[in-house]
Formats: sequence, C-alpha cells, structure tokens
Amino acid sequence: MIRRLPDAVVNKIAAGEVVERPASAVKELVENALDAGASTIAVDLRDGGAALVRVIDDGIGMTADELPLALERHATSKLATDADLDAIATLGFRGEALAAISAVSRFTVTSRARGAAEGLRLGGEGGAVIQRLVVPCDAGTSIEVRDLFFNTPARLKFLKSAATELSATLRALSQLALAHPEVQLRVANNGRPVLTAPAAATLKERIGALWGWDLAGRLLTVQHAEHGVRVHGHASPADVTRGGRDDVIVIVNGRPVRDPALLQAVLAAYRPILARDRFPLVVLAVDMPPADVDANVHPTKAWVRFRHPRLVQELLAAALHDALQQPTAVAAAVDWSSAGAAASGAPVAAAAPAGQSALFAETAAPYTTAVRFGRVLGQVQDTFIVATTDDEVFFLDQHVVHERVLFERLEAELASGGAPSQALLAKRGRFVGASPRWSRRPPRPAAVPGSPT
Ligand code: ADP
Ligand code: MG
Repeated sequence: MIRRLPDAVVNKIAAGEVVERPASAVKELVENALDAGASTIAVDLRDGGAALVRVIDDGIGMTADELPLALERHATSKLATDADLDAIATLGFRGEALAAISAVSRFTVTSRARGAAEGLRLGGEGGAVIQRLVVPCDAGTSIEVRDLFFNTPARLKFLKSAATELSATLRALSQLALAHPEVQLRVANNGRPVLTAPAAATLKERIGALWGWDLAGRLLTVQHAEHGVRVHGHASPADVTRGGRDDVIVIVNGRPVRDPALLQAVLAAYRPILARDRFPLVVLAVDMPPADVDANVHPTKAWVRFRHPRLVQELLAAALHDALQQPTAVAAAVDWSSAGAAASGAPVAAAAPAGQSALFAETAAPYTTAVRFGRVLGQVQDTFIVATTDDEVFFLDQHVVHERVLFERLEAELASGGAPSQALLAKRGRFVGASPRWSRRPPRPAAVPGSPT
C-alpha cells in the first residue's frame, strides 16, 4: 500500500539532508540572521552545538503572524515567484532549515519584528509546537536548539566528540564571518568565548581578528575584475603556508562555497611556488550577477553551479597570478646570493633584490672543455659523464653540466644585450581550450630574466 507520509516524517527525512551535524544547524541559523540584516550575532554552544545551539540576532525579526509559518517546510520570505529562483540574492531560499532543525530537536524561537510592541515565543520538540507565549523581548530573533537528533538515534550515533563537532562548527562560522566582515560575531562554547569578530571595515581586518594580525599583515592583496565578475581578497605569500586546505576559502556572492574546480584553480596557481604537502591561506570573494550562479544544487547550499565555470576558474587563477607576482610574494628571507638553490621557490619579481643581478654579473671562469676535462670516455649510471686527461679522471654530473651550459648561454646572450626575458614563472594558461573570449593576456616584460635551473 502506498501512503502519503505525515509531515513529521517528511520533515525528519528532509532534516537528514539539511542538518548533518551541529555545524549545519549553526550555519543555517547564522545564515538566517545574516539574511535578516543583523549587525550583531551571538552564538552560544554547548558541546560544540550537540547539546545546545543558541543564535541571537538584531535583524528585522518576525511578526506574530510570520513566526509559526517560518517553522513550516517550504515557507520562506525570500522567494516570491519561480523567477526569483534564477537570481538568488539571499543565503536562504529553500524554506527548509527551520522546519528541518525543529523536526530533530527541542527548540524555542523568540522573535520581535522591528516596530512591534512585543515578541512571540514558540517552543516545542520533534517539529511540534507545544508552547506559545507573548513575551517582552529585544527586536530581532533568538533561536535555541537543544538535544539535536534526540529523536533520530541513527544520526545521533554518528556525532563525533564535542571537540570535533566544535571544530566543524567553528570552521563553518569563520567562513561566514569572512564572507560578512561588517557583521559582529561572538561565539562561546560551554560559556567560554571561542570566536570574537568585531564589526570590521575590511576583509583584511576580519582576517586579522580571526587568524591573527601578524598573519593578516603578511597576506598579499588580490584584486581583479573582468567580464562583470570581481574577485577580491587576500592570499598568502610563498612562505606562509598550512598543512591542509581548510584555509582556502572561496566566497561567491556572500556565500562560502565548496567548489572542487575553484579549489584546484587556487592550488594550481600556487603549485610552482609551494612544496607538494604545503597549502596556502586564501580568502577570495567573488562577486558576480546572481543570475550567473545557481546555489540550488544541494539542500545545504554549499555547492553552486556557474553559468560560465571556466570563466570563474580562469579569473581566480589570473587574480592569484597577479597577486603572486608582487615582490613580497617571495620572502625577504630568501637568500638571493644562493639563488641557484632558491630559484625553484622564487617567482620572477619585477623588483628582484639587487643580490640577484650579482649572479649574472659574475665573470665566467675561463675554460675550454677540451683542455680542462680531456677526452670523454663514456657515461655511467645514466648520470655521469666520464672523461680523462693524461693524468686525471673526471666524473661530471650531466644535470649540473647542463645547467652550467644554460647559464653560460644566458650570460653570453645578456652580454650581447639580447637575452630573452622570462616574465611568468607561475604559468598561466592551465585552462587550455578556454574560449578565445577569455584569452590570455600578453606576458609582461620582467626587469630581470629568470635564473637557470
Ligand atoms: P529560508 O532561509 O530558506 O527562507 P528557513 O527555514 O531558514 O528558510 O527560514 C524560514 C523563514 O523564516 C525565512 O524565510 C525568514 O522569513 C524567517 N526567518 C528565519 N530566521 C530568521 C531570523 N533570524 N530573522 C528573521 N527572520 C527569520
Ligand atoms: Mg534559512
């Protein structure tokens, strides 16, 4: 027999997609606060959110008529017609989160709309409203979610330790904090402050509050606009790295997104200058027409689809590429006098330290192969050239010899004034086959040619 599922069951099923763990509930509630135009958001957690999530905002609030609706599935104030779905300008739009969260928790929602004399409080559990109270309260909304998954034992079992849930929750919160620097965000766990971000005038200021001012001061500025898409943010220079990719954050129209292709574009830009096991710190905000990006891909809204994915990837790569060309992209600590060894980590900077030119000014030791190394006998181990004179045997490392040959060739070219310049150490053009509209820009002339190796 086929039956229509009761609402309570439908909500529980939907909740499984929307609310994966406490971090997802926190994310949804803070997104609602941001959509409500809050300028201050306070989050209280117990056990990383598993025991309690309380989010208090000073946003527009809800009227007594709106509040009960907000808890219903597919009830939203953010979409009016299906055309709105094509250009979403808010973080929420599916009208699912509150229904889902209240279906799997013990909840209290208190809200007072701006201009209303008093507020309304609804409380209940498992999706059912049990309590309804008119209360005096501040304008804005306060939502308390206790005992998440108390009625879904299967999900409850999958919760990790309080520390693990807390770190997932803080990761979600700091991404939102980076996406909205102007909003003050305070987070406490078990009564102790764990994240404090005052309202910031700039993204850099917010990064300073979250990641530390020293670090923020070292970051390079990223700024790029093309074809109606603007990329701005901050990126670490070659010597500021992390062991994982968690600090590569891409924000699209105010929404932190998980986009494997964009992550790859970022990592690719760093590949020439970072060791394989090191990762950059990058916060990039991409602003584009809402119609060119679709957030309606998954209930958590963490993935998006771009109308022109290649364009966005290429733009991010270009933006980072420009930033990494800045002279400070390479640590001042790099010893340029031994630049031969350091060259692999050094983009060709327009204003390379003076020490580097010394490398090229060095006068070549006079020698002729024939005289110095005698007669070539052969090669051993695919690595060494063996040569002899009447009284000596030479083992020459082919690789090193080759470098020397290139070096001298370069020197000769420099001396004759016609050395070809190497503008781009961090190569662009990874997206071969991109449509000609997004063709690469001509390489820039560099003041100093790249060193051999
Ligand atoms: P969505 O955000 O997709 O609209 P939600 O279930 O998260 O769906 O919220 C439902 C509705 O409740 C929202 O559209 C909004 O009108 C209202 N709402 C939720 N949280 C808040 C809040 N913090 N302040 C004001 N209104 C809110
Ligand atoms: Mg929402």
